[in-house]
Amino acid sequence: MSQPPAKTLTAVQAAILAWFKAESRELPWRSTRDPYSIMVSEVMLQQTQVDRVIPVYHAFLKLFPTFQSLADAPAADVIRAWAGMGYNRRAMNLQRAAVQVTSLYEGVLPDDMKSLRGLPGVGEYTAAAMACFALGQEVVVIDTNVRRVLGRVFYGPSGAPDKSIASTAAQALPEGEAWSWNQALMDIGATICTSRRPTCLLCPVRSDCKAAGTFLSSSNSVAEIRAAYKTKPERFEGSSRYYRGRVVAHLRELSDGVSCDLQSLGLVVKPDYTDDDEPWLLTLLQGLQRDGLVALNDQGAKTEVALPL
Ligand code: SF4
Repeated sequence: MSQPPAKTLTAVQAAILAWFKAESRELPWRSTRDPYSIMVSEVMLQQTQVDRVIPVYHAFLKLFPTFQSLADAPAADVIRAWAGMGYNRRAMNLQRAAVQVTSLYEGVLPDDMKSLRGLPGVGEYTAAAMACFALGQEVVVIDTNVRRVLGRVFYGPSGAPDKSIASTAAQALPEGEAWSWNQALMDIGATICTSRRPTCLLCPVRSDCKAAGTFLSSSNSVAEIRAAYKTKPERFEGSSRYYRGRVVAHLRELSDGVSCDLQSLGLVVKPDYTDDDEPWLLTLLQGLQRDGLVALNDQGAKTEVALPL
């Protein structure tokens, strides 16, 4: 796919940066450059929406204000502080990353992509986000929103393959403005150029966007075209993630040092639980144990379950 002309790039950059200056959302992690706080926010935002992240982010930083304090905290306290976020494995990865930063890098977030990628729970996107937002590096940050916005603007309603988007994103990055540019694209993707209903009339780049004409001309076309971005929704209730969440939610309610046996835990997480479900529950718990989210204590014929300390 051919790259957009320089004139279009310049116009899009100017429009997006001007829009961001006037309209950007006030988010707590945007008013800090503290690498630890930004890492916490990035991990929280990986799979949880902004509104749910904000209160947990503030409370989490109050309890664990530094890499060192998080690294030293009992795992059970970190898991409790993650309540309401879902995908609890991230809490343990974040704590493991804090341990790594304190033990390998003297408590300072490393500034090269290879070391960032080596931190537990940090994939390509999060590493790039930390490089840009926490360390001030001039790098592209491509998440789902950015991919969608750039795809529509420069290629049309159906977007473009990841390779083309990556190359266009690198070309479009305005010099010295990576922080604002990446934040702006994410804001536009989250609030205006949404997957289901892009509101092109409010969009700062509608006059240069290759998809705007299609979306503005017919409301039906949005539903048709969004098939290009659609992923099949995963059924949550009854899924392994659902039961894992229920186990951790119940254990969070127990005081330190208190555990529960398989039978009572099974009945809490699955009301129609029977003895036949025990192998299923044990497999689920072993997965949670591998992720550092539960501690299993075999006491002869009985297994007791609790949060890890
Ligand atoms: S003009 Fe419409 S399709 Fe293009 S980026 Fe803006 S909201 Fe998205």
